[in-house]
Amino acid sequence: MNTLVDFAAVQQRVAALKLPGQAFINGRFVDALSGETFANVSPRKGQVLNYVASCQAEDVEVAVKAARQAFDSGVWSRLAPKERKKVMLRFAALFEQNMTELALLETLDMGKPVAESAGFDVHAVLECLQWYAECCDKVYGEIAPSGPGALGMITREAIGVVAAVTPWNFPMLMAMWKVAPALAMGNSVILKPAEQSPLTALRIAELAAQAGIPAGVFNVLPGFGPTAGRALGLHMDVDTLVFTGSGEVGKLFLQYSGQSNMKRVWLECGGKTPNIILNDCHDLGKAANTAARSMFFNQGEVCVAPSRLIVEAGIRDEFVAEVLKVARTIAVGDPLDPATQLGAMVDRAQMDRVLGYIKQGSEEGARIILGGERASGPLADGFYIPPTIFDNVTNDMTIAREEIFGPVLSVITASDHLDAVRIANDSPYGLAASLWTSDLSQAHAIIRSLRAGSVWVNCFDGGDITMPFGGYKQSGNGRDRSLHAFDKYSELKSAWIDLQA
Ligand code: NAD
Repeated sequence: MNTLVDFAAVQQRVAALKLPGQAFINGRFVDALSGETFANVSPRKGQVLNYVASCQAEDVEVAVKAARQAFDSGVWSRLAPKERKKVMLRFAALFEQNMTELALLETLDMGKPVAESAGFDVHAVLECLQWYAECCDKVYGEIAPSGPGALGMITREAIGVVAAVTPWNFPMLMAMWKVAPALAMGNSVILKPAEQSPLTALRIAELAAQAGIPAGVFNVLPGFGPTAGRALGLHMDVDTLVFTGSGEVGKLFLQYSGQSNMKRVWLECGGKTPNIILNDCHDLGKAANTAARSMFFNQGEVCVAPSRLIVEAGIRDEFVAEVLKVARTIAVGDPLDPATQLGAMVDRAQMDRVLGYIKQGSEEGARIILGGERASGPLADGFYIPPTIFDNVTNDMTIAREEIFGPVLSVITASDHLDAVRIANDSPYGLAASLWTSDLSQAHAIIRSLRAGSVWVNCFDGGDITMPFGGYKQSGNGRDRSLHAFDKYSELKSAWIDLQA
């Protein structure tokens, strides 16, 4: 990764990249049956990178058939777990060998700083792949406490054909959180990456095949949501649909399931993370630095972005001044420049959506104390919005209720810790929450009061692949990461053997 230190050298490497554009079905790259493609635009300068196969219902049909045949053949699903592990570890090793290329493809495609794609994303994906590879031969069944007359065996079996529909904000990582446990369990997988960022998924499919994952077991169908995504959701032979994306589309998948075969639907949807800073926070400098950097990480296009900064009244002014100081230092720029800390919004539509929220925030009475406009000058060709902070936000304002998915922070004042918890929970979302306090008893009590899937104390986004991740309320259902993810990719079978016969 240390090759990515010089902007000119990075640009040279990018110019030499091969950009995948075909779908990957049944072990090979193919065009969409219709021959249709879509323009894949880079948000850096708004230029077309390449044309990518636009898969439709007929391509979904072919992929599901291939996935089902592979599953039924047992070539992967009935392979001895330790053999599956070897193949998956080879997949992880190939991923590791190609991490620089994958980081560059990711940055080029969706605009995150190369320092982050190379310094964070690829490492998190590798950890996920290695961890689930190791799980292949370490997940045991259970024997029920059924007494001397019977033997009750509880086993986990692969569920069959898994379809994964994923977003553009962490294209590789969100995909791998699903693909790795699904494959480790022995399923066949069809991945539909977001249309804004198809490149890394296609390259990863090639690496999986090179590692020895059999044809039909891992397929990647680039295409649009209302065509390819919908066809997967409605397909009668997809057993499980796993999704990360907006709540709006998550709700559609629940409908698709009801209209088709009652496939299992697991959703990781949005968030509006409260970041609570109490008067007794012992290190305001660290808390302010974390509040600003976590908010503007990945351009704020993060489902757990701490977009509601809830500060107790006693430290409010001092704390906000500190956050402002840090936010002003964040370097906005071309995502391929290794010095950049905040890159481009994924596309024009997302940029316009975020600018619309900024306008609405002002109209509803919040006060902009930083940013608030699209970047101009040398960045005017691409889709850039510098760090934006609103003060005087109340929790009923649109900018405090809806997920903006951009670099926009709202400061909300709480009268005391109870008020802070009330504001934090007053949201349709419940993905995560963060709390800064030096009182451990109070921290425990507040952890219990917060309606969120993850709670971080005196840090932000703590945890790793060993910790489950997912949401309460309209943030979704089920959990990615950890052994709990296997609930999505397996059926439990109960076998009762009468020993008295
Ligand atoms: P999105 O819901 O628009 O798209 C997600 C995926 O759904 C894409 O692959 C898209 O093609 C597909 N899709 C869109 N319309 C569809 C339809 N009608 N039928 C079937 N599929 C359809 O979300 P996005 O804009 O790509 O991503 C941003 C959202 O993802 C945010 O709301 C964010 O919070 C959420 N997200 C959640 C998590 C999490 O773990 N909870 C992680 C990352 C992102």
